[in-house]
Amino acid sequence: MDSVRRALREGEISKDMYERLECVECEEQLVTKNEPDEVGTVRACPECGTKWRQLP
Ligand SMILES: [Zn+2]
Repeated sequence: MDSVRRALREGEISKDMYERLECVECEEQLVTKNEPDEVGTVRACPECGTKWRQLP
């Protein structure tokens, strides 16, 4: 799973004017997933299901 930071750099996700993350391909706002096995927070696109790890 790529990190949010890397995905931002590579243009997979972007921030809207309110600093909310969205999937560039689907133009959907990312949702937060609670996955206890993962370090940090997992952000996912509700449309394509791609997940990114957001480190604290
Ligand atoms: Zn998507």
